[in-house]
This record gives sequence, C-alpha cells and structure tokens, in this order.
Amino acid sequence: MSVMEMSHRGKEFLSIIQKAESDLRSLLYIPPDYTILFLQGGATTQFAAAPLNLCSSPTDAVDYIVTGSWGDKAFKEAAKYCNPKSIWSGKSDKYTKIPNFDSLNQTPGAKFLHICANETIHGVEFKSYPTPAGQNEVLVADMSSNFCSKPVDVTKFGMIYAGAQKNVGPSGVTIVIIRSDLIGNAQAITPVMLDYKIHADNNSLYNTPPCYGIYMCGLVFEDLVEQGGLAEVEKKNVRKGSLLYDAIDGSKGFFRCPVEKSVRSLMNVPFTLAKPELEAEFVKEAAKEKMVQLKGHRSVGGMRASIYNAMPLAGVEKLVAFMKDFQARHDHA
Ligand code: PMP
Repeated sequence: MSVMEMSHRGKEFLSIIQKAESDLRSLLYIPPDYTILFLQGGATTQFAAAPLNLCSSPTDAVDYIVTGSWGDKAFKEAAKYCNPKSIWSGKSDKYTKIPNFDSLNQTPGAKFLHICANETIHGVEFKSYPTPAGQNEVLVADMSSNFCSKPVDVTKFGMIYAGAQKNVGPSGVTIVIIRSDLIGNAQAITPVMLDYKIHADNNSLYNTPPCYGIYMCGLVFEDLVEQGGLAEVEKKNVRKGSLLYDAIDGSKGFFRCPVEKSVRSLMNVPFTLAKPELEAEFVKEAAKEKMVQLKGHRSVGGMRASIYNAMPLAGVEKLVAFMKDFQARHDHA
C-alpha cells in the first residue's frame, strides 16, 4: 500500500506525520509549548489566517514591515481582517533593504508585528529580527523561502509559517509553528479550514491532509537531520551564497546585485547585467548548459538564481564558471 492509498487516520499514516513533526521539532529546537500544524492552501492562505486567528476583532491594530512583494501581499490581504499598518516599506528603494529596528515606529497595542523573513523575488533576508514593542504583541514571520535553511530561535516568534515547496517538500503542504497559547481566539467569521484551534485539536487531521506531501516533507526532515541539522545546512548555504555573491561583486560591474550587502538572501540571488541587452542571451546560453529558471521574476526583471537547500555546491560552481566565461566572451568594454 502506497502512502497515497493509506487512510489518513490509519496507524501507518499516523506514524508518518508524527515522525515528520518530531524531526521538524528537533531540527528547529521547537519547544513543547509550540504547536506544529501541517495545513494546505499555501503561504498565501496564511496571509488571511494569521490576522483571523491572532486578532479578535477586525479593528485590531497590526504592524507590517514590508521588505518586498510577498510582505506587501500579506499586508494587503490582512486589511480584510484587521487594521494593518505598514510601519516601514522598502518600496522606494526597490526593495533592497531591511530597516534599522530602532527606528521603527510600532503601533501601541498592535496584536502582532509581521515580517517576511526572506523576500523570494527581491532577495532580501532578515539576518536578525525586530522585537515587537507591545507587551502582548508577537512577531509573526513568513519563512516560506528560507524555512529550514539555517537555525532559527523559534522562541522569538509567536508564529512562523511556510509553504513547503522551496526547501522541505512538494507544494500543497503549508507548515505553521505557533505558540500554543495564541490558539483558540479566532474571529467568529474564520472558516473552519483556517482555524488553528480546529487543526491543533485534531493534530492536523481534521480533514484529509496532503498525505503524500507530508510524507515527502518527513523524508526531507530526516535527510536534514542526517546532514547534521540546520547548523550544517546553513554552512553549506553560506558557502554557496558567498561563491555566487563574490562572483557578482568581483565582475567589475559586469554583473550587479542591487541588494544591500548585509541583507542579501542566501536562498534567492537576484542580479542584473550592466548591459541589459545581454540578459536574454545570458538566459539562453545558460539553458544550453542545462541551467534553467535563471530569469528574474517578471515584476523585477534581470536574473535570479534560487539556490535552495537542494541545490548542490557543484550547481553554484557551474553557474559561476559560466558567468565568468560569459563575461570573457561579451565584456568588450
Ligand atoms: N511568501 C513567500 C516568501 C513566497 O516565496 C511565496 C511563494 N513563492 C508565498 C508567500 C506564496 O506562497 P504560496 O504560493 O505557497 O501560496
């Protein structure tokens, strides 16, 4: 019987989901007072679920730090279910920065402070985290694109959410890690499928979960544990990221990364060519070498190399060698 055929309530599947949860708990050192939920609907669904569950009324104040287009989407969705304020936006700098936390003007009494820990399109990553100002206020983070890429102190957060598909499994699984005392106060209009209490009380088995996806996540967690845990994973990611950023910075301006150095993402590396007319050629030649998906997001253009956990160092080495060769052939400045 394959995982696809199993009843999600049978003991075989229960052991799969429980093992996945316990491996994730050990990878991120998630304390017992935090609940782990395996949900559906992508991180996009959490843009609504977070305010629905953490605010008791649509008039509750919430703060958003908007460092890229995902943070902006989360902020806009929240406006339907609470009273969100963008207390900082990097838009005027084309989303290349993270604010200085001391300068933030947080709203007194806000229910939570939301960040997108890694902006997938803009390549901006928080390297440390702001502290919410209010006594009962919690930090909420969308970690979709850097989940399990490095150790994270979960206790700094009230809630972390992530779509699985970047680092830990196939699309269709969304993971929520939430401090258990924050569960159970959802707004009355909250659909049953978005209510964390329903899912927590039913150990993520209220309805049929994405069983196969959860099984795959479990296999990845097992592998990450075998690799030595997230500190080891981070070392590999630092090596990959440094290699690529050094190549960009060492290209004498032929390649450029617009993101401020101190907040460059280790997962998504955006770069442009000083001669934009060469970008299409770059993508075409790279594809011939079997390096695909290098075109930047349609909203920003340029190039973007996404080098998630599963990208081996050899893949980045190959890209860097190709970039140097491409420059040698096209840089006639
Ligand atoms: N947040 C971030 C940081 C993302 O990268 C993405 C997807 N690329 C999303 C949210 C939306 O996730 P989903 O497609 O799983 O809804």
